[in-house]
Order: sequence, then C-alpha cells, then structure tokens
Amino acid sequence: MEISKVKNIAILGSTGSIGTQALEVIRANKDLFKAVVLTAQSNADLLIAQALEFSPKVVVIVDESKYGQVKEALAHTSTEVKSGEDALAEVVVLPEINVVLTAVVGFCGLKPTISAIQAKKTIALANKETLVVAGDIVTALAKENGVSILPVDSEHSAIFQCLVGENVAEVEKIYLTASGGPFRGKNIDFLKTVTCHQALKHPNWSMGAKITIDSASLMNKGLEVIEAKWLFNLEVDQIDVIVHPQSIIHSIAQFKDGSMKAQMGLPDMKLPIQYALTYPARLQNDFKRFNFLDYPALTFEPADMQTFRNLAYAFEALHKGGNMACIINAANEVVVAEFLKERIGFLQMSDIIERCMLNVDFVEKPILEDYFQTDKDTRAYALDLVTNI
Ligand code: NAD
Ligand code: MG
Repeated sequence: MEISKVKNIAILGSTGSIGTQALEVIRANKDLFKAVVLTAQSNADLLIAQALEFSPKVVVIVDESKYGQVKEALAHTSTEVKSGEDALAEVVVLPEINVVLTAVVGFCGLKPTISAIQAKKTIALANKETLVVAGDIVTALAKENGVSILPVDSEHSAIFQCLVGENVAEVEKIYLTASGGPFRGKNIDFLKTVTCHQALKHPNWSMGAKITIDSASLMNKGLEVIEAKWLFNLEVDQIDVIVHPQSIIHSIAQFKDGSMKAQMGLPDMKLPIQYALTYPARLQNDFKRFNFLDYPALTFEPADMQTFRNLAYAFEALHKGGNMACIINAANEVVVAEFLKERIGFLQMSDIIERCMLNVDFVEKPILEDYFQTDKDTRAYALDLVTNI
C-alpha cells in the first residue's frame, strides 16, 4: 500500500522527545509529510529553529513571555505566531490539517485533543494522559465523529499492529511489556534513598523527564494499562503486565483460541511514530534492524506491585471507575514535578497519590467539567500534602 498524497501534520509538543523524533520522520519523508503546525511550551530557541527549517503555517509558543522573541525571529517568514494556553485548541482545527500528533505531556493535552476530534482530525496519540483522565469521553467523541485515534505509545502501537486483520472481539487478553525501569529488582529500603538523578537514567529509552520518572515508579505502566483499556475497549481483567527488561517485545495480543501475536523490534520510538503517520501503509526506512544474536535471551518476570505501588493503584482506579484515574493522573503530575525539584522522596510520590485517591471527591459518572474540576482539586490537595509532608 502506498501513501497517495502529502499528509499535513500538526505536532503539539514539537520540541519534546516525541516531537523531535516525529520531525526526524517528516524530515526523511518530505514528499509524504508536511509539518503545518508546531507548538512548544517555552523552548523558544528550538521552536524557532524548527519553524525556520519546516516553514509551518503556524507555530504556538504557549509561554506568553516568549512570544516577542519568536515573533521577531520569524518576522521575515510567512509563519504565523500564536501564544497562550488556549492557542493549541484553536490551531488544531485549521482546515489543511490531516493528522494531529499529540506529543505534549500531561493533562494539558486534553482540551486540544477534544478540539481536534471535534474538527474530525485523525489523532496520532502520544499524550497518554488524555486517555487516562477522560478515556470514556474522548473515545466516545472520536466514535461520534468517525475519528481514528492511532496509538504512538510503543506498547499500544504493538497491540494495534497485532490487531490488524483481526476481529478485536476475539482478543482474550493483552500483555503490556514493561522494562522495569532503572530500579527493577530493588526493594523499599533501596527506594527510600534514590535521587531524581538515578531515576532519570532509563535503561532502554531516552524520553522526557516526566515519563522517565513514571517509568522508574511503574506509574507509566499503570497509565498505559488505563490507556489500553480505552484504546482497545477492554475489561480490566483482560489487561496484564509482564516485565521484559530487554524491551524487544513491545507487547502481545492473545486471542480466544490461545494464539499469541507479539510485535517486536529494537526500542526506537520513530517506528511507532512513523506507523501512526502512515497507517495502514508501511514505509521503507533505514532504522537500525534487530539482530537475534545480539539478544540471545529475551526474559520475562512478574511486575512487583508491592514495591512499586503505583501500578497497583492504576488497576485499582480502573476497577473503581468514575474520576479515579483523573485523580491519580493529577496527583502523579504534581508529585513527579516535586520529585524532580527534589522536594519529596521517591516513595513519597506513592504516599501522596494514595492520599489523593482516598480524600479527593469521588465522582461516579463524571462529565467533562468534572474532570477539569477533579484535576484542579487534586493538584491543590497534592501540593498541600507536599508542603506538609
Ligand atoms: P517531553 O517533556 O520531552 O516534551 C513535551 C512537549 O510538550 C514539549 O514540546 C513541551 O514544550 C510541550 N509541553 C509541555 N508542557 C506543556 C504545556 N503545559 N502546554 C503545552 N505544551 C507543553 O515529553 P515526551 O517524552 O516527548 O512525552 C510526550 C508525551 O508522549 C507524554 O504524554 C508521554 O507520556 C508520551 N510518550 C512519550 C514517549 C517517549 O519516548 N518520549 C513514549 C511513549 C509515550
Ligand atoms: Mg510506552
């Protein structure tokens, strides 16, 4: 299958880990893809460099204090410059956009993703937090608008690839693989003293700071379990996690006859990014190929949910339903930011998340506004706990 015409891509979060790798894919395939919107929170220098290279129609620098710098640097070009928090939700509706790649980190992805779905844009979804927070509303809205949400997260891309040509109703369960992160096999005593410097050293992937900490605490896998539930319309007991330290098998689908399909390859996010942009076609590339002899043993072990409580909390949130996953997500965003500032310890992150789960108002059948309120309330409560810890 070939890609027939140029696809116009909006990248939300073009200066991040996923965003820059997406631009590598676009750079290598200029005849197939055009970056028409690029956005950044505050990295003006990189956004300017990207705009000068890719000549997008619009760029957004969310941080308004950087607007003048970007505007001036691009004054001689035809790129329009916008700023402010609401600009992301505005730019994703531009008529020429075919695909919106959501590569921002955290809850801030929710509004622009909803806006893009309402404008009937295909979503290439890296921003897992959007589905964690409001998966019910986002997936229902996508269905209503006939919009595809194509996963970029490597595990979900793996499952998605395993399901091509299959009847999704025949899936018995899925196994999401986890590397185990830098603290795999460590006990509570060890985790009491780990620093953010140690937590930022992921064994297999180079990623943004938040997801790297989430990987060390297994919260990332917890968020991915919730993301998988919504992407593939599964029950909680159909989702399992298996630790696979080599990160070669990216995830596995098991069907009702017991047959299992796994998608594998070297850990390189450019592949799932590219697949989300080319689906259902596959595109020739020169990414490094897997060599079996470099990996004589692929190993598997259970996830230690007693030591890494965040993963257990995510399963608990799915069982509980309502706004519980939104509570976990907001609490987690706060504690990760505070851990990165060295204001709290590694294990205190889970303590605070647990307190938020117990004490923030539970809403059984939330509407969209409830999620925004829950996010706000949980952040305030979590920050309060941080200052009084
Ligand atoms: P990152 O921190 O490297 O980049 C985040 C991007 O979002 C940057 O461009 C930043 O400017 C922008 N941004 C941050 N806060 C913002 C805000 N409040 N408003 C608007 N823009 C904002 O993060 P990343 O590692 O690229 O991850 C992006 C998303 O992709 C996350 O949801 C992450 O979980 C998911 N993801 C990442 C990887 C990976 O390999 N990096 C893999 C799977 C999934
Ligand atoms: Mg992942």
